[in-house]
Amino acid sequence: MFQAQRPAIIVGNWKMHKTIAEAKSFIEELEPAARHAKAKVWLAVPFTAIQASAEIARKSPIVIGAQNMHEQESGAFTGEISCSMLKEAGAAFVILGHSERRKLFHETDASINKKIKVALHHDMSPIVCVGETLEQHQNGLTHRIIEEQLSLSLQGLNVTDLEKVILAYEPVWAIGTGRNATPEQAQDMHRFCRQFVGHHWTTAVAEKIIILYGGSVKPDNALALLTEPDIDGLLVGGSSLSVNSFSQIIDCCNINVS
Ligand code: PEP
Repeated sequence: MFQAQRPAIIVGNWKMHKTIAEAKSFIEELEPAARHAKAKVWLAVPFTAIQASAEIARKSPIVIGAQNMHEQESGAFTGEISCSMLKEAGAAFVILGHSERRKLFHETDASINKKIKVALHHDMSPIVCVGETLEQHQNGLTHRIIEEQLSLSLQGLNVTDLEKVILAYEPVWAIGTGRNATPEQAQDMHRFCRQFVGHHWTTAVAEKIIILYGGSVKPDNALALLTEPDIDGLLVGGSSLSVNSFSQIIDCCNINVS
């Protein structure tokens, strides 16, 4: 973070939390922190709250997005939602390949790859999540798994596409567990992801690509993570549900670290 060429982004992922009314009052309360923030502030809200949240957020710097979408434009996919529907409702970005989607809804890198292409086609910023499980981590497979997820999910994208993609390294063992990766562990994996992009595309795009860290980020560990050179922002689950803790995390980006 604190790199002039890469803007910091703090993204809240509300998962299946908050009604429309709750979302509206949260955004109103968060607005002053977002207005004074050096970082960009994004919120991935439930589908039902996108339109109302986007309307309220229009008067603020807060950007509203979605947590998933279907890879097809339309069709007989009961219960699913398309990229153009999300866009029309006011979503500017979409989280793709979150580990909960991979594990609970059996999402594959191949379908994530299709979704990324559809999102880019619609000018929607995809936040592409990668991360290893605890078992893979303990068996020393972290780099191999991340390399595989990156190479399959980003397959077929060109440099212009890559410039619009945001990556999120989220070790599965750190999500919602209270056990975060150390800043050193996270930095190592962020550098690895950046080098992967440099190796497969160009060093210029590798220097530009924004890589977020996610996994039990809290007000008391956010600054140490953000101080690492390849950590450009945070994807925050549990701590984004309260204005108090989320704004403390946003405020960490206002601290000058020399
Ligand atoms: C997430 O949902 O992406 C996440 C990182 O959750 P938490 O911050 O609760 O670990």
